[in-house]
Amino acid sequence: MAKTGIVRDVRYLDHQANTYHPESHHRLEVIHQMLQEPGMKGNYVEIPPRLATREELELIHLPRYVQLVSATAERDYAMLDPDTYACAKSYETARLAAGGVLAAVDQVVAGNVDNAFAFIRPPGHHAESSRAMGFCLFNNVAVAAAYALLAHKVQRALIIDWDLHHGNGTQHSFYERADVLYFSTHQFPYYPGTGYVNEVGNGSGQGFTVNVPLAPGPGDGEYAAIFEEILEPISLEYKPGLVLVSAGFDIYYQDPLGGMQVTPAGFANLARIVLEFAEKTCGGKVVFLLEGGYHLEGLRDSAREVLKTLRGEILAGGRDPSLCKSADQQMVGPIIRKVKEAQKPFWRLR
Ligand SMILES: [Zn+2]
Repeated sequence: MAKTGIVRDVRYLDHQANTYHPESHHRLEVIHQMLQEPGMKGNYVEIPPRLATREELELIHLPRYVQLVSATAERDYAMLDPDTYACAKSYETARLAAGGVLAAVDQVVAGNVDNAFAFIRPPGHHAESSRAMGFCLFNNVAVAAAYALLAHKVQRALIIDWDLHHGNGTQHSFYERADVLYFSTHQFPYYPGTGYVNEVGNGSGQGFTVNVPLAPGPGDGEYAAIFEEILEPISLEYKPGLVLVSAGFDIYYQDPLGGMQVTPAGFANLARIVLEFAEKTCGGKVVFLLEGGYHLEGLRDSAREVLKTLRGEILAGGRDPSLCKSADQQMVGPIIRKVKEAQKPFWRLR
């Protein structure tokens, strides 16, 4: 079995809305319960989270924005954008979310664990350098990628974002850089509105942003096909030293916010595909971190399957080839061709 680290902490429940909100602490409560199940409990290496420092947050965020978020700690409640709340504990929780991913990166890069999953909140991929957006305060995955490059001298980091939504903040953080490649599948047109096929990066970052916008409908087979036909060849050519996965479970087939059809077995297969090419490029050094996912049972069941895949308890013999074969070509064939056309100047794609 592989050694798989997990980041979990009751303090991640402290970020709470004062009214109904889909991004609630209940999301982590069901995951914490799942981690106590027989067959899960004791099987994962605990990685204690830490608070990200201001300097670490400022690898991505402007100092005045970090200051603005820190000031919310002095108020009972604030709205940072129409969707994004901050209670008095949110600043600390958000620092612990970013720091939780940094702790996971430290352990994976050092080889103390083979891979890891950071169960953190608030999520991060919509957060821009100078503003909160879409339930996100600090951009956890972007801070982690910048940190890995700086603190661990990782040459190239790959960010895979399979959340339902486009990670606008992550894309913008590295849009003109070649040392972080951002790959996203997302429902489109949809919130936040970015993530067109022709958004491929700028300047020396050209070709290091890969967007796969999708109409509602894709499920296990279609996602597998996109990963195998676009993500995998680009990743093998890019040769990242670390892979970070913005794992949003809002592409689950019953998620209240989305129109995608992925099942827990489909998530496991995507995780397995990622592990397989990461094994070839960076010894399997992959850090998963939680983004969205708003169907509580779906979130719990999908996270469980991904964890079992990371540990090698399921799909240890390899990905399930029947899923990719089952892809509805009418549904995803055209978009796969369009993305390949846009990315062909930069990558060897068939
Ligand atoms: Zn999302």
